Amino acid sequence: MYDLVSAVAVRKESGMRDATVVVVGAGVSGLVAARELRRRGIEVIVVEAADRVGGRTLAETTALGSRVDLGGQWIGHNHHRVTALAAELGATPFPMHTGRLPVLIDRSRRLSVPAPSTFLAVFILLLAEVLSRTGITRRWNAVTVASWLAKVPGASTRRLLDVIAAISWTADLDRLSIHAAARMIRNQGGLYTMLSTHGGAQDSLLVEGMGALSERMADELGARIRLGQRVLSIEQGESGVIVRTSAGEIRADKVIVTVPPPLLDRISYTPELPSAHTELASAGYMGSVYKAIAVYEQPFWRERAGGEFLILDAPGRAVFDTTPPGGPGHLCVLVGGPAARDLDRLDPAGRRDAVLGTLVRHIGPEVGEPVGWHEKSWSGDEYVGGGYMAVPVPGTTAGLPPVGFDPVGAIHWAGTERAADHAGYVEGAIESGARAAREVIAAL
Ligand SMILES: Cc1cc2nc3c(=O)[nH]c(=O)nc-3n(C[C@H](O)[C@H](O)[C@H](O)COP(=O)(O)OP(=O)(O)OC[C@H]3O[C@@H](n4cnc5c(N)ncnc54)[C@H](O)[C@@H]3O)c2cc1C
Repeated sequence: MYDLVSAVAVRKESGMRDATVVVVGAGVSGLVAARELRRRGIEVIVVEAADRVGGRTLAETTALGSRVDLGGQWIGHNHHRVTALAAELGATPFPMHTGRLPVLIDRSRRLSVPAPSTFLAVFILLLAEVLSRTGITRRWNAVTVASWLAKVPGASTRRLLDVIAAISWTADLDRLSIHAAARMIRNQGGLYTMLSTHGGAQDSLLVEGMGALSERMADELGARIRLGQRVLSIEQGESGVIVRTSAGEIRADKVIVTVPPPLLDRISYTPELPSAHTELASAGYMGSVYKAIAVYEQPFWRERAGGEFLILDAPGRAVFDTTPPGGPGHLCVLVGGPAARDLDRLDPAGRRDAVLGTLVRHIGPEVGEPVGWHEKSWSGDEYVGGGYMAVPVPGTTAGLPPVGFDPVGAIHWAGTERAADHAGYVEGAIESGARAAREVIAAL
């Protein structure tokens, strides 16, 4: 039985502690938690395994001086926490450019949107939306999306749904249950919201990049952040918590752990965590996503073809015009699921050709020669392990989002997977970080 009494009976002699609270992970949730604690005058140390802050957010500056996000970038229309944080930190939102319906490309040809295959796909998506609002999908918690898709008539319809699902959830569809997909649809505000730009989850972006929010919060926290220090173990005892890192020991009263649930077993815990927590590590896996941004002097494609493409040829991908106001032109490419990992086998030039190739025929040869190229395969990120979020394995109930966040003695939990609102998004990371900070403040 977990010894809550000794775990909570923390001695508050300041000489014993390096900080009141240790936050594990300098992603958005960890930085928000640390910032909230600092505002209350609580001493905090943030320990981050990577040599940068941001976790699943990461902004880079292009050769033309603009900013691009290789991780989370969009602010959904009702993501009010991100909007408020961006305003506080002086970042500038702008609406996504979206002119026409997305151009669908299959076998190098443009598909007309009112084709029978697209009608059938839309009908199936509507059905999924309706089912996601009922409890009925519980009976399909062990039935995979891949096995269900195999029964859908029409190769083009199947491929279209396959690409949409892989990009939406970054999952391997043979490792995603229908019930988990339905739960994710519901948590993400419904399919229409998930897939829409204006008024949906892809509503707007930040000129400075979403990554700038992490950078600016980190600037505020300054030397309280310790980069390149991986947390190896967390020990709770009568004199508080000892967090052992690759660089030494930190003693505190409380700890907030923000690492994605599938990576929880990379840290050892004394006393051991209750089984409801340990099983989280095997109840999900990090999704696979590859993201690239091609940079051009101008968004020259707008007149020719609009700004959104869904390409069914391998690698199945979605392309978005994420150009900031006044340019330069940014084309953002997302590949999800196994197709994202397949790209890792190519060299950088081969990957760029594979990703931009189809577009040359539809937009023009200039698209193959960007002035800047930024890419990241998130499965290769040592400390985050993938994105956008943890995917529940078929059959699990523990791994279904939102994942539980009951404190275990002095250990509190944050991270987008633990968000009661908008799990999986930056919005959820902020919500969970602020909630964990409140919990800790109340418990001190
Ligand atoms: C390609 C991509 C596109 C996305 N697009 C969007 C989008 O458009 N809009 C949106 O809202 N969301 C998007 N997301 C999701 C969003 O980025 C995440 O929900 C959010 O950033 C998660 O923040 P977090 O703090 O919960 O977790 P993380 O960012 O994963 O933070 C956890 C931190 O813990 C660190 N860590 C792990 N293990 C240890 C350890 N042992 N010791 C110390 N530190 C450790 C990690 O390095 C990491 O920095 C996207 C994600 C990706 C990858």
